Amino acid sequence: MRLILLGPPGSGKGTQAQRLVQRHGIVQLSTGEMLRAAVAAESPVGLKAKDIMASGSLVPDEIVVGIISDRIDQPDARKGFILDGFPRTVPQAEALDELLKRKHLKLDAVIELRVNESALLQRVETRVAEMRARGEEVRVDDTAEVLIKRLAAYRSQTEPLIHYYSERRKLLTVDGMMTIEEVTRAINRILVAIGAVESKSSSKAGPAKRSAKHAAGGRTKTAVRGAASAAAKSAAKGRSAAKKAAKTARKDAKRPARELKKAAKSAVKPAAKSAVRKVAKKSPKKRARA
Ligand code: AMP
Repeated sequence: MRLILLGPPGSGKGTQAQRLVQRHGIVQLSTGEMLRAAVAAESPVGLKAKDIMASGSLVPDEIVVGIISDRIDQPDARKGFILDGFPRTVPQAEALDELLKRKHLKLDAVIELRVNESALLQRVETRVAEMRARGEEVRVDDTAEVLIKRLAAYRSQTEPLIHYYSERRKLLTVDGMMTIEEVTRAINRILVAIGAVESKSSSKAGPAKRSAKHAAGGRTKTAVRGAASAAAKSAAKGRSAAKKAAKTARKDAKRPARELKKAAKSAVKPAAKSAVRKVAKKSPKKRARA
């Protein structure tokens, strides 16, 4: 399984990536962590990145692309990986597409954690205050001031990736303002719905029915429900039981007509069967911002 977690700093990508690592035995590739290690080791990359990172700006594309390309080749990444904090610009995403193609690897999905920026600032301020109270060292770029700059960098350079992956039908969105546990559950439902992982519990009607019902039943956003519905829709092509399940899932979700229409446009096929995937799309311009 190969995933990208997309979201502004502080949206919980790292936390969710770690949970995915534990659950699915794949590796987390965090460019932020790798760069911090390079800074600590005072390597040539670290020396170049140090001041840029401290200011809240982005490190040049060629540096991070090089780091990721080498890291993907390591044996522990063979089973799969979660990219956390990469790509962060459209040229990085294009470079990633190119290098995955060259390595004959396929990306399963891009999961966006959508959050409210003012809540993010609040979260960081609370976290920094708690860390200071415990006498722990606070990252130089983890202050409210630098975060404001990092959020601006996210908006101008990273947010276009939402459109990039949405156009390529890879994007699925989760409400990152839910609790950590709820976000984890929503992500797992997505992974089951798109066929990237198997549902833990089995059902007589098979995984398609199980995943569709499961994914549609939770407190997730439209795109997640869209994926569930789409997975059911895909399965329905070949199996009448799954067809029934898709209906049930839609009914269960009690979505308004507008959402149903959007979901009906989606057609996700389990990853094992096809790379073609449609997810609920949203224009980045219309996206809610705090
Ligand atoms: P993170 O831990 O992902 O928030 O990253 C911390 C800092 O590392 C960022 O503010 C950037 O300065 C740098 N960084 C991490 N990943 C990237 C990337 N993909 N492209 C450019 N800079 C990055």
